[in-house]
Amino acid sequence: MGREIHMFFFPYFAHGHVIPTVDMAKLFASRGVKTTIVTTPVNASFFSNTIQRSRESGIHIAVELLKFPAADVGLPEGCESTDLLPTSPDENFETMMKFMQAVQLLQEPFEKLLREFKPDCLVADLFFPWATDAANKFGIPRLVFQGTSYISLCVMECMRIYEPHKKVQSDSEPFVVPNLPGDIKLTKSQLPDFLKQDVETDFSKIVKANREAELKSYGVVVNSFYELEAPYADYFRNVLGKKAWHIGPLSLCNRENIDKAERGKKSAIDEHECLKWLDSKEPNSVLYICFGSMTCFTSAQLKEIAMALEASELQFIWVVRKQKNNEEDDDWLPEGFEKRREGKGLIIRGWAPQVFILDHVAIGGFVTHCGWNSTLESVCAGVPMVTWPTFAEQFYNEKLVTQVLKIGVAVGAQKWARVVGDFVKMEAIERAVKELMKGDKADEMRNRAKALAEAAKKAIEKGGSSHSDLNALIEEIGLRSQ
Ligand code: UDP
Repeated sequence: MGREIHMFFFPYFAHGHVIPTVDMAKLFASRGVKTTIVTTPVNASFFSNTIQRSRESGIHIAVELLKFPAADVGLPEGCESTDLLPTSPDENFETMMKFMQAVQLLQEPFEKLLREFKPDCLVADLFFPWATDAANKFGIPRLVFQGTSYISLCVMECMRIYEPHKKVQSDSEPFVVPNLPGDIKLTKSQLPDFLKQDVETDFSKIVKANREAELKSYGVVVNSFYELEAPYADYFRNVLGKKAWHIGPLSLCNRENIDKAERGKKSAIDEHECLKWLDSKEPNSVLYICFGSMTCFTSAQLKEIAMALEASELQFIWVVRKQKNNEEDDDWLPEGFEKRREGKGLIIRGWAPQVFILDHVAIGGFVTHCGWNSTLESVCAGVPMVTWPTFAEQFYNEKLVTQVLKIGVAVGAQKWARVVGDFVKMEAIERAVKELMKGDKADEMRNRAKALAEAAKKAIEKGGSSHSDLNALIEEIGLRSQ
């Protein structure tokens, strides 16, 4: 037996990053690795119950706190997570950039912690480009956690190398991502702003710095499993030459209902109430609709969704997040909607216990923005999807779901638009949700999704692909640290 390995985990301050990182720390800790999560007080409060429950079950995860320098960049105190920004990034991207500026100021206090604890390895989020240099100063290998799929990592790299979007005549002309398996077709309008801009912006500088830091890092950990996206796992490692370990799906480390229900923020619904409602439904009969922790639709878009749900006559759980400027009003609900859908539809205003809901047998489909965590959680639950990407790398994940795995129906979103997404009409939503929930095609998609859920469970068991990669990674860190 060698000496105990100590790993540091440093998630970006957004729920879509903190949640899988906490799961990852639990996973490593359950394998006997000493783990410490470095974060800020507000972010720590989101997962303190999880840490407490882990400790009670014999898995100890330490937490080290850094003060978030909100005031130094002109942000309100306590604004330590992207969803706590006073304005959403589509309303005011400046605030988002201030937030990113604050993140850059953390290097010095973070280095102090590295000096004090000298961990054997640092798993730091993509959005801390300075973390590679910081770790190198102390001879600590830095792994990058990007929080996305292999396919997205591959598409991003191919777009950077081949720039196919520069060769099309219009925003809507499809192009194939060059040199990548699977004939992945995209349009320029589905690409992030920074890729389309010819001039360098503050954000594109951050993207560049992230990439350079990744190149200098020890490797990449991926929340995925080989069987889900084998061609892209192979491409990433063998063609793009990256050192990567896939250790997911990370959400599967949550086996108890309470752990599935309490991830991220406090739920806006009591999980017992939610369970009672779901228990009263037939298997595969309820549609779950949620767009992650960042996407906020306009009232007009929410109204279209409401009308589509009513017209489809489907039963549903709908998690509603609105733009911050009119969070209080219910002006988006058609007159009498909730009364008419009583017993058939449940609206959750705020945070939902997502994995708990998805894992219930009553759930038959998920309308998702294709954030990678949500996508993977749906796969783990064997639930097919209506894909409605809005921004970030979500359009790439959509291709995996609809085109490669064939476990989803695209709603038809065409335009990348930060946080608010493309406007989609009621008819398109109704068509997609009906196609997902009813008929032979729906059954085929559901069967494929169920098979993938089985494969996901096998991947993390002894002898499975993710289990083996995790073993290999722990062993390698152990050898380095001797
Ligand atoms: N989530 C949740 N309840 C909500 C909204 C989101 O539990 O009401 C969780 C979801 O299960 C996932 C994460 O928050 O783990 C969102 O990550 P994802 O990558 O899907 O999207 P993002 O929020 O980063 O856009």
